[in-house]
Amino acid sequence: MNVVIAASEAVPFSKTGGLADVAGALFKEYLKMGINAYLFVPLYRITKEQYKDEIKTTGMSFDVSLGNITKECRVFSMQHVFFIENDDFFNREDLYGTQYGDYHDNGIRFAFFCKSIIEICKRIDIHFDIIHCNDWQTGLIPLYLKILYRDNPIFKGTKSVFTIHNLGYQGLFPPETMDIIGLGWDLFNPEGIEFYGNISFLKAGIIGADLITTVSKTYSKEILTPEFGYGLDGLLRKRKDSIVGIPNGIDYSEWDPSRDKFLSDNYTRANLSGKEGCKKELINRCSLAGGIDKPLLCFIGRLSRQKGLDILIEAIPDLIKIGINFVIIGRGEDKYQGMLWSLRHSFPENLFFYQGFDEPFAHLCYAGSDMFLMPSLYEPGGLGQLIAMRYGSIPIARNTGGPSETIEDGVTGFLFEEYSADALMNSVKVAVLIYTKYKKLWISIVKKAMGMDFSWSKSAKAYIDAYKGLMTKR
Ligand code: ADP
Repeated sequence: MNVVIAASEAVPFSKTGGLADVAGALFKEYLKMGINAYLFVPLYRITKEQYKDEIKTTGMSFDVSLGNITKECRVFSMQHVFFIENDDFFNREDLYGTQYGDYHDNGIRFAFFCKSIIEICKRIDIHFDIIHCNDWQTGLIPLYLKILYRDNPIFKGTKSVFTIHNLGYQGLFPPETMDIIGLGWDLFNPEGIEFYGNISFLKAGIIGADLITTVSKTYSKEILTPEFGYGLDGLLRKRKDSIVGIPNGIDYSEWDPSRDKFLSDNYTRANLSGKEGCKKELINRCSLAGGIDKPLLCFIGRLSRQKGLDILIEAIPDLIKIGINFVIIGRGEDKYQGMLWSLRHSFPENLFFYQGFDEPFAHLCYAGSDMFLMPSLYEPGGLGQLIAMRYGSIPIARNTGGPSETIEDGVTGFLFEEYSADALMNSVKVAVLIYTKYKKLWISIVKKAMGMDFSWSKSAKAYIDAYKGLMTKR
């Protein structure tokens, strides 16, 4: 089976969140399974800097037309990974924007990315059975295949799969973008890719793909409702027979406390002493007071409303008063960054805030913390809770999306229903009570969580089964 994975970020080359973990790990798993898979990602500045010795030019280059302008695509590769280079678009400080907002030309950047991927597939002359696209950045590909490349023999029988990692990010651009993407203005209507006066790249993926997947089973149902549907629930309901939920896994060669190179001490489920060493290291690095026995809670993630920052920030002062320490790593909306800095100043000995993205530090936080907070308003799949369980940091999460089907309440973590600071606090209080007063029970929860299997093999097999189902359809 020949498969393309198209993603705007993928571990280890680029990462801002879970999409990168999923795309990178799925690709790796496919190669392990003997699938002829190719990964397509942009050649960002960070990728160039970190892999300059390994990434080689293929010698392939061609022009991509985007309305009345033309941009050159140069193609680089490293084994089965293709990197799409155009320095105007991708040689930038960050992937999608600066702290002041998204890059103004994201529409043209990712239209270029989508067109380039299809053109490369054409030129390398491999007949791909599946082109697996991810999120709005690759949403145009399914429609391009259906409209612009419909009669090209190389794509005869090629099916497109579109995975929604987060419906909240839709890739909305002004109407003029229609000229750039070149799909014809007849699609600029509510049945097409118009979304309340703008163009939605996500909608292009939803209407164009042969199969739509979401990163948990629960989320595949949630998005059909107005509460989670972001205005697309009607369209998604129309396509509900083509939607499947396939839960995320994590890459246990990256996330393994017994050999994690970012940890001061390694540990296993059978011997947890190294976890204490990691906690000491984390407490020292963050200059937290209270010592090793004080419960240490962490949050790692994007600082956005979706991740539950409103209720987390509201709950923190009361939780610190009952004897809890916090480490928070993240970057995102200014208002949350500001509020977290002000909490840091109010409680310098009990709350450490790192504003930024730091993979090694994140590893230490998963290992050194006792509990992991995920109070998300909604959570399509969520990797944080899976990683936390692997590291014996017990997740306390809202009962939604991925967490609701990966955490067993009271057994491998704690779930709460209502989106409120009170509900979050009550759940934390139960966990902390067990942690402080019922040590044996706590250790059994830790061991149970660490023993859960969220490896990629199961998820990758589910994707392959879904591909096979598609390939038998004409
Ligand atoms: P998202 O909705 O952002 O994709 P997930 O829970 O699915 O959330 O995945 C987030 C991934 O990004 C995890 O691997 C998490 O450890 C990582 N991550 C998020 N924020 C940071 C950060 N500030 N520094 C380091 N890693 C981070």
